[in-house]
Amino acid sequence: MLALKYHQAWNVGLQQVEPLSCIEPDDVVVDIAVCGICGTDVGIITGSYPVAVSGTTLGHETAGVVAEIGSGVTQFQVGDRVVVNPTYFCGHCRMCQIGNPNHCERKFGTEAGVSYDGAFAGQYLAKENLLIKLDDHVSMEEASLTEPLSCTLTGVDKLGITHTNIRAVVAGAGPMGMLYIWALYERGVKAFMVEKNESRMQFAKDNLPPECQLYSDFDTALMQEYGDQSTLIDLCVDTTGQLTEYVFDHLAPGGKLLNVALKDKHASLDIMKIADKSLSVIGSIDSLNNSFERAYAMIRDGVIPVGRLISQTFAFKDYQQAFLIVGCDLTAKAQVPLNTPNCKVLIRISDLK
Ligand SMILES: [Zn+2]
Ligand SMILES: [Zn+2]
Repeated sequence: MLALKYHQAWNVGLQQVEPLSCIEPDDVVVDIAVCGICGTDVGIITGSYPVAVSGTTLGHETAGVVAEIGSGVTQFQVGDRVVVNPTYFCGHCRMCQIGNPNHCERKFGTEAGVSYDGAFAGQYLAKENLLIKLDDHVSMEEASLTEPLSCTLTGVDKLGITHTNIRAVVAGAGPMGMLYIWALYERGVKAFMVEKNESRMQFAKDNLPPECQLYSDFDTALMQEYGDQSTLIDLCVDTTGQLTEYVFDHLAPGGKLLNVALKDKHASLDIMKIADKSLSVIGSIDSLNNSFERAYAMIRDGVIPVGRLISQTFAFKDYQQAFLIVGCDLTAKAQVPLNTPNCKVLIRISDLK
């Protein structure tokens, strides 16, 4: 089978590898249908998130069909359509035992698409307890957004939203920003979106929740939304990682800043203000507290229309075109500006439906 292998920054490519088979009793081999491109993949390829292990197959946002089950598997059969939760946890280490399984201490060697072979490949080796059977009406494409939506729900949980009449903003109209604005909307919060890239704006403008506005910069947004650009806001989800200091200075008392960007960037914050204004600066990543199951249920029930966030789907052999859309020119080995309207870009690994 073919697999998209990472070797080092800008050195990735398709190569033939052996088909997979079950090793442990709870193993399940999944024939991959679809795998989405995530910011993590872009970070690994460009070298800005230098955590991946050389030789690993990339990709972790995926759905497919069960091809083989281990001797102890009882919940799945060959042929079942499934979505894969890529976030392994051991259940025994200190992090797992204090409620942080997303930071399991045995992550090294288990992080799908980073240190453990992921799903930009014909097959993926999963664990039974990390699969969900798909309902017939849920497409493989929609199912592949379960993982990023799950990460989004984890972040929204951490915001502890108690009131819907708050001033809320999401920065960055990439897939995570769009999922956040929809997840907030589902909680009754109408946020506005700030995005400066023209291509991202073009796609976002038709796919935001009702009554959520889109702006190309923060000052204009504050002016248009509240009539005054010095208006303080209650909540900001920053998916860009570039706005920490700006947002911090614009938080109302009790305000919260959620950073979900894996960006190598430092910020300087006023400690006195954190205490005096009861501010929160929160980080979030991964799935937690059953968020994966909740995300799947929201997709299944049409609560969040993830299909609308899929901007392009490419065949596996055309992976270079897919990565070009999200700014990775694999031929030139350089990051390029986003210049095609885009949001979530998927790769069709096989024609499994
Ligand atoms: Zn991801
Ligand atoms: Zn653990």
